Amino acid sequence: MEKIIRQLRQSDHFLLVSHVNPDGDAIASLIAMALALEKWGKRTTMYNESPIPAVYRFLPAVDRIVRRIETPSAYDAVVILDCSNIERIGRLSADFGQFSLTVNIDHHLTNTGYGDFCHVDTAACSTAEIVYRMIQMIGIALDREIATAIYTGILTDTGSFRFANTNRTAFSICLDLMENGVDPYTVAQHVYGTYSIGRIKLLNLALDSIEITEDGKLSFMMLTREMLEETGTQPEDVDGMINYAKSIKDVKVAVLIQELFRSDTERDKNRFYVSLRSDGSVDVAALASSFGGGGHHRAAGFSAETSLADLKGGILAWIDNSERGICRN
Ligand code: 5GP
Ligand code: MN
Repeated sequence: MEKIIRQLRQSDHFLLVSHVNPDGDAIASLIAMALALEKWGKRTTMYNESPIPAVYRFLPAVDRIVRRIETPSAYDAVVILDCSNIERIGRLSADFGQFSLTVNIDHHLTNTGYGDFCHVDTAACSTAEIVYRMIQMIGIALDREIATAIYTGILTDTGSFRFANTNRTAFSICLDLMENGVDPYTVAQHVYGTYSIGRIKLLNLALDSIEITEDGKLSFMMLTREMLEETGTQPEDVDGMINYAKSIKDVKVAVLIQELFRSDTERDKNRFYVSLRSDGSVDVAALASSFGGGGHHRAAGFSAETSLADLKGGILAWIDNSERGICRN
């Protein structure tokens, strides 16, 4: 962290980037880092390839996040937040070679260690927690806007302080954030209390799609493109739904399969996004990695172009064969 701070001090113009289809932590880390660097007298550009989900559009400076970068080489440093591999930033990863200096700040178990400088803390509940610690170390004063962004990152990545990554630091940082003006009720209202009716209807379809294996240890939730069309919802509206599949008694691994689009060329192949959650007895980061994705021990994801039957079969086979396979113990 000290080496990174020394490097940041020497740079003036920053490009800040986080992962495609951003969650609360990816957006919050981006904004908190940008606002803090600006208070330090730096110039920043925030980039994310995907649209920002409606529930996060209340965040300060969110309208400054751009979806296109004209000259990737124009920045003194590129700070990549919450991305376990460089491909997670999306199309811009093709310009990686043009970046003058890259800094990788993350908390994912599967982080590949890319970049000139790298700080990966898998004990951190969120990337926002790491950004908070960095701001403290530099000595930049918090304000309500920075604090609100960091709070949103911690709140969402800990599943409202319910997931296993909810640590002592999370609570102690949040106390400090409240003392700097954060109103937890207002943030919760924006993030969890402004859903469209379509999202609730989609939840209904998602709940109805849940299937569990005979031994009750594995649950599947399925969302098709038709379900999103029927309810007038976007992929961002699926966020959090897998937790219902995971919340069933005795379920050890929950799998959410989301259909992205049909292949035009091969009629039986589809493109899917798969979300995985585990109670800790199965390392879903390893499962996701074996399909080209990544994440944490208890929460991970990947994309795949295959048939639904092959996808389900592949996931079941991996769990059966894995040493910690839930079907064996
Ligand atoms: P979610 O299921 O909420 O989309 O993702 C769960 C976790 O896995 C998040 O920490 C997310 O960053 C990570 N993750 C999801 N999809 C991918 C992927 O395709 N590649 C990598 N490396 N990580 C992913
Ligand atoms: Mn995160």
